[in-house]
Amino acid sequence: MNSLNGLKIVITAGPTVERIDPVRYITNDSSGKMGYALAEAAQKAGGRVLLISGPVSLPTPEGVIRIDVLSADDMLAACQANMPCDIFISAAAVADFKVLSPSTFKIKKKYDNDNNIVLHLSKNPDIIKTISESKKTNFTVGFAAETHDIKENAKSKIIRKKINLILANDVSDESIGFNNDENELLAIDDQFNEYPFPRATKSKLAAEVIDLIIKLH
Ligand code: C5P
Repeated sequence: MNSLNGLKIVITAGPTVERIDPVRYITNDSSGKMGYALAEAAQKAGGRVLLISGPVSLPTPEGVIRIDVLSADDMLAACQANMPCDIFISAAAVADFKVLSPSTFKIKKKYDNDNNIVLHLSKNPDIIKTISESKKTNFTVGFAAETHDIKENAKSKIIRKKINLILANDVSDESIGFNNDENELLAIDDQFNEYPFPRATKSKLAAEVIDLIIKLH
């Protein structure tokens, strides 16, 4: 039987949280369900699984070690501190930007004449790209949540971020993805072979994706 056989698997999951001030923040939509399901499936397949998670309300799967983080910078630092690994799976919904200068006190509601407040944002690190370029993992798996041109966008992400396997899904379909228990995925590898996974529970999909990773890594 195929197995992950003691391989070290690092998985990111959930949203990141970027502070504006002590009472406000920027975050992304993410329940963490897909990443947690992958962690559980990888552990059941014999992997040594480390889950680096943004804030979610999910229990840690049995046998999985979990590190909690908030910001993208913290998530990247936790990933780097836990390299090398055999397989890196980036399921986190990382915020693309952070607040340039988070305030240590609650920002006063001082609007300008147009009733606007200006917040300066800056680019967050691309965690999956940084990890795959560091060559401290043998196999990198990423997600592509798309609303259109799913295949083309997923393929360009494979090249740009140096990903070995991408799991693409259509987030314009509100009956799957994000907070739902079900999802539908199209996996594409770095040779652009396609592996469709029809709609199923996230836990069934996760087991099937882990089987594919076992074959390809
Ligand atoms: O560019 P986009 O956000 O669509 O890419 C999605 C993939 O990249 C996911 O696997 C996500 O976890 C990862 N990602 C990341 N760091 C970022 C943004 C996305 O690791 N700053």
